[in-house]
Amino acid sequence: MSFLKGKRILIAGLASKLSIAYGIAQKMHEQGAELAFTYQNDKLKQRVTDFAKKFNSTLIFPCDVAKDEEIKELFKKLKEIWLPKEEANKTNCFDGFVHSIAYAPKEQLDGDYVDAVTREGFNIAHDISAYSFVAMAKACRAMLNPNSALLTLSYLGAERTITNYNVMGLAKASLEANVRYMADSLGPDAIRVNAISAGPIRTLAASGIKDFKKMLAHCEKCTPLRRTVTIEDVGNAAAFLCSDLAGGITGEILHVDAGFNITAMGNMGNDELSQSAKKE
Ligand code: NAD
Repeated sequence: MSFLKGKRILIAGLASKLSIAYGIAQKMHEQGAELAFTYQNDKLKQRVTDFAKKFNSTLIFPCDVAKDEEIKELFKKLKEIWLPKEEANKTNCFDGFVHSIAYAPKEQLDGDYVDAVTREGFNIAHDISAYSFVAMAKACRAMLNPNSALLTLSYLGAERTITNYNVMGLAKASLEANVRYMADSLGPDAIRVNAISAGPIRTLAASGIKDFKKMLAHCEKCTPLRRTVTIEDVGNAAAFLCSDLAGGITGEILHVDAGFNITAMGNMGNDELSQSAKKE
């Protein structure tokens, strides 16, 4: 079954083969979606062009989400391609987008939160990581077909404190509230809005967080599934949430984290205890 067949989806946030957006593109492509991509700046253009080819797409557009004019231009260009002149009386021409974008200056993600946070760091983190999601929705609202789906990526740092995650946790909390308000706003147009709260995965963005490797090692032992998640795990959930199979789901923050969020302290070594109990 190709449950995204006939869906046109824009993916923003592809930077490398390790990107969560790569796993999402892979799984959406497998399910038959027609994909388009954005790249943040010229340094990433060739790389994203090459990745797009793997997913049978030549549709790549520049978009730095800090700039309203680039967001506007992105959707203007997308409309020219997905809505040919002979259909100019219509406005709807695609079925949703994935926002897999976050940024905070590196020094914000290191050390004591109160000491590290600055007004500028706070503003940048919220602008790029939270506001940009609704900014994109605002710019393309009229172009979205009924039964479209918008999706963003969050992290547990929105709900709990996580060492060094600092102001990014606040930005993710704002992003999650954004999901609920956007879902309420766009629901009457049959547009759904959801987020995936992913467990830690080694990517370019994650490498900016101090001691990220320690977080990964901790999660490998401490999650109920005793493993970390992969970009493919997240990609499968993303493909589902953007498909009509998830038609009744909106405003939801779906944890794809091997169950870590349900524990208070994670596994504390009961594996060893139960092994020794078996021996006795
Ligand atoms: P990544 O570095 O591969 O992706 C981050 C993307 O953000 C890049 O493509 C980058 O170009 C883009 N970006 C940053 N600033 C931008 C701007 N101004 N304009 C346009 N694009 C911009 O890392 P990733 O881990 O795949 O991150 C994707 C999303 O997943 C982020 O929202 C991140 O917070 C979230 N997430 C990551 C993890 C993890 O452990 N890796 C866990 C949970 C959530």
